[in-house]
Amino acid sequence: MVCNSLQKYYNETMIAKTTHINDTKNLVGSLPAVRYTEPQYLYIAMANARCPNAELFIKEGDHVNSCQVIGMRHAAFFDQPIHATCSGTFVGLEKHYHRNGKLTDFIKIENDFKDTLDPSVKQRTPEEIAALTKDDMTEIIKNCALVGLGGSSFPTYIKFQTNKPIDIILINGIECEPYITADHRLMLEFPRRVIDGIKYAMQAFKCNKAKICIKSKYKDIKQVYEQVLKEYENSGIEICCVKNYYPQGWEVAMIKEATGIQLKPGELPSNRGIMNFNVSTMVGLYKAIKYNMPVIKRFITITGDGIKNPMNFRVRVGTSVRDLLSQYCGGYINPDKDKVFIIGGPMMGNSVPSDDIIITKTVTSIIILDKEDYVEQPCVRCGSCVLSCPVHLEPVQIMNAVKSLDKERIKMLNPLRCIECGLCAYSCTSKIHVTDYIRRAKVFAKL
Ligand code: SF4
Ligand code: SF4
Repeated sequence: MVCNSLQKYYNETMIAKTTHINDTKNLVGSLPAVRYTEPQYLYIAMANARCPNAELFIKEGDHVNSCQVIGMRHAAFFDQPIHATCSGTFVGLEKHYHRNGKLTDFIKIENDFKDTLDPSVKQRTPEEIAALTKDDMTEIIKNCALVGLGGSSFPTYIKFQTNKPIDIILINGIECEPYITADHRLMLEFPRRVIDGIKYAMQAFKCNKAKICIKSKYKDIKQVYEQVLKEYENSGIEICCVKNYYPQGWEVAMIKEATGIQLKPGELPSNRGIMNFNVSTMVGLYKAIKYNMPVIKRFITITGDGIKNPMNFRVRVGTSVRDLLSQYCGGYINPDKDKVFIIGGPMMGNSVPSDDIIITKTVTSIIILDKEDYVEQPCVRCGSCVLSCPVHLEPVQIMNAVKSLDKERIKMLNPLRCIECGLCAYSCTSKIHVTDYIRRAKVFAKL
């Protein structure tokens, strides 16, 4: 049991730590996303974390169309087509940093600025769309290589393959990590694409109810959707405002808040008649079903205390972050200081040693911070990490078990339930990278 005064101290400390970040987040989220869709070069990843192998169907000097299949990624249980995201010439492979934090081969395409679409891209009529079954849509999104665009990168077609009856579809527009506002802008700038995507998902699952989950503080989104949903009579889609805390975007927390259903650890939402998707994935679904088009553009946030002008962008997949930093973000505030580059959110993202980063379709944000040198202090047993853990683990105990290599105790402390939200490290009084210990504990627990 934790005493109330300790809980109060913890809450106040966390509020003070996050106020500045939230000010930045609110400012960036209130400005329209800058369009940067015609860079000279685009870079498409060969392999990725889920698909470690890939083959190329083109050779240097070949002309490619936008959306053309130019290769295939291979995973243990599925293949994933690789699409060109502009028309132009394949000039070779180059290594850059991938979202997974590793230097990876990228297919470099010189943009011809003609945006010639591949013949496979074609608009379906409303009648053709209305006739599509779940199996038809599954095939379409498999060919379009649609994945969870909130960062999970899980193939969407596999979620579509469930045979479980679905009673409700939940759309995750919560975007709860600090700093990130890319989904916020997407929702404000393309509400009809979001809603049409949700309608296609509802058609596939023969489901007549959907909730778009957002944080209660996003009154601008609520207002826009309440207005636009009037155009969709009896759609069964509604806005659902959830609490304003991290990690409210974690699917278990979102489902509990939106439906009252508490999933058991490891339980699939579909077991309870629930299907959930990120809001960007719904726009990807809209493009795939309506135009037979893969994801070639996306919204991203580039922000953090290290750069002069944090902002949101709509870019082609394959854009170099360096282009955006130099042309739009005004460069670094303190160019002489070392930087921390994080791909994804500051709590769950991957850090890389340089800004030589390429936007893949699952990159939601790049956070750039001035590096602060600090030394981990000994644990003072304050209990902050325990108080902060949303899955009620005891991070400090897990850390101690890892340090003493006590495998039995590690297993007993259940580290596999950790969702890697990063809160234990963020809240640690002694600045210990507690989450790193939990990750190591997971490896031990699987042995
Ligand atoms: S990273 Fe894991 S152990 Fe740490 S607070 Fe989050 S869920 Fe708990
Ligand atoms: S690991 Fe950090 S947060 Fe947890 S008890 Fe020790 S000092 Fe406190």
